[in-house]
Amino acid sequence: MTMEPMTLDRAQDYLQKYYGYPEFREGQRNIVSSVLNHRDTLGIMPTGGGKSICYQIPALMLPGLTLVVSPLISLMKDQVDALITAGIPAAFINSTLSGKEVNDRIRAAAQGDLKLLYVAPERLELDWFREEMSHLPISCIAVDEAHCVSQWGHDFRTSYLAVAPFVEGLSQRPIVAAFTATATPEVMDDIVKLLRLREPQVFVTGLGRDNLAMTVLRGENKREYVMAYTAEHAHETGIIYAATRKEVDQLYDRLQGAGISAGRYHAGMTDNERAASQEGFLYDDIRVIVATNAFGMGIDKSNVRYVIHYNMPKNMEAYVQEAGRAGRDGEPSQCILLFNGQDIMTQKFLIEQNQQDDERKHNDYRKLQQMMDYCYTNRCLSNAMLDYFGEAHEDKPCGTCSSCTDDRELIDMTVDAQKIFSCIHRMRERFGVSMVASVLKGSRNKKVLQYGFESMPTYGTMSNRTEKEISDVINVLASDGYLALSEGQYPVLKLQSLAADVLKGQRQVMQRVARPSRTKTAGLS
Ligand code: ADP
Ligand code: ZN
Repeated sequence: MTMEPMTLDRAQDYLQKYYGYPEFREGQRNIVSSVLNHRDTLGIMPTGGGKSICYQIPALMLPGLTLVVSPLISLMKDQVDALITAGIPAAFINSTLSGKEVNDRIRAAAQGDLKLLYVAPERLELDWFREEMSHLPISCIAVDEAHCVSQWGHDFRTSYLAVAPFVEGLSQRPIVAAFTATATPEVMDDIVKLLRLREPQVFVTGLGRDNLAMTVLRGENKREYVMAYTAEHAHETGIIYAATRKEVDQLYDRLQGAGISAGRYHAGMTDNERAASQEGFLYDDIRVIVATNAFGMGIDKSNVRYVIHYNMPKNMEAYVQEAGRAGRDGEPSQCILLFNGQDIMTQKFLIEQNQQDDERKHNDYRKLQQMMDYCYTNRCLSNAMLDYFGEAHEDKPCGTCSSCTDDRELIDMTVDAQKIFSCIHRMRERFGVSMVASVLKGSRNKKVLQYGFESMPTYGTMSNRTEKEISDVINVLASDGYLALSEGQYPVLKLQSLAADVLKGQRQVMQRVARPSRTKTAGLS
């Protein structure tokens, strides 16, 4: 069945009438018309991208009822209240209701008095509920936060596995429209497979937000940076994410000490303390909130001008979600990631601490490596991000990220790269970044001597650099695909075919790097 051209115009009329918006956003238009065409649809959009409208407008236009599966009980009521205020008949059913209230709402749905009914996924596991629903004219099932069906996601919920059998138990199969902000290929595959979508149309949109300027800073003095930045932006609203409660508390104390209007948020605080912080932030009594990643679920504050990551997050999904809390109002905003080698250690430690099977651990290490690649790349950060999530984009740099605005000179690093590659080759591709850097530096540390590396021709060939500088160059080479790091706690450097081209003199390597630092004894004339 194809849609008459009028339908999308009509959808736009509804958008104006009920929401007061004149236009669909690019991604919304595609998704709405796919659903109205009775196609199973997977819509991937960042938080704040406008997912709700993608199923609410079709719900108004399709006959019967749209059932919305949503995991956040706390948000259901807000959503439904907003719909009712807009004049859209909607209700929710969850564990906060009495038996009578539940029955009343089911009856209202059966009588055709509702267009949207929100339920938590757990409800779909109940036999009596399935039985009740099987009599209703359900045209569409909208699955919100659909990544919860996947073990690869960051928020797996078993009850999402009940969605597919539920759909199949209905007398008429409805359209299934799934939504998430998580767009890794594994998660997308899982959603399609585990929700048993039929020939779905998949739309990935809006991850690149033009108003967000992405920055990665390596080797910065983090604390000084944050103090200076917050002082300079004292009248702007910002979020600073730190990895641990201890770090949150310390930063918070310093900011307060410096007279900056700061709050904090982490799981070690009481419920009351956390609620107070959250409200203070929402109502602009607090400018900067220092928080662990516990902060943010369901926070919809539009005027956040900057999100600073004091530590590298565990993966790109987490990063994009947290950084994406900046600039919801479309105004120019900053996403700044402060990165150093310690962050890698911290994340590896956390992976090792999590009791989980080998496959998951492997997956976590791979995602960590991809996060590190983002931190080390010289490429346009916006494009690197879009590529990671598989979103189509123009082949031109964004012009605002820290790679695009990097005015350090592009230096020919071919000779250094050749030294590094041949050293790795001679070490038989059995060692990690720091060991290779030690050998190139000409270090006399115990492990170097124990393996007899001091007699290798590449030993000490980069002695004019610090080991940290050499490590940085190696990491950038890995991020650019010349080298791969094996997965696991102690990754080993492997040469890739690009590196072979460099060794053969068929390819030039350019990097933006700090100039080699001079050793003290060399003196400055
Ligand atoms: P999500 O569920 O993806 O996080 P929401 O559906 O809550 O996002 O929408 C985020 C914000 O964008 C809301 O304030 C919403 O009213 C607004 N919005 C959504 N669609 C449009 C549109 N077409 N034009 C203008 N604003 C929109
Ligand atoms: Zn860029």
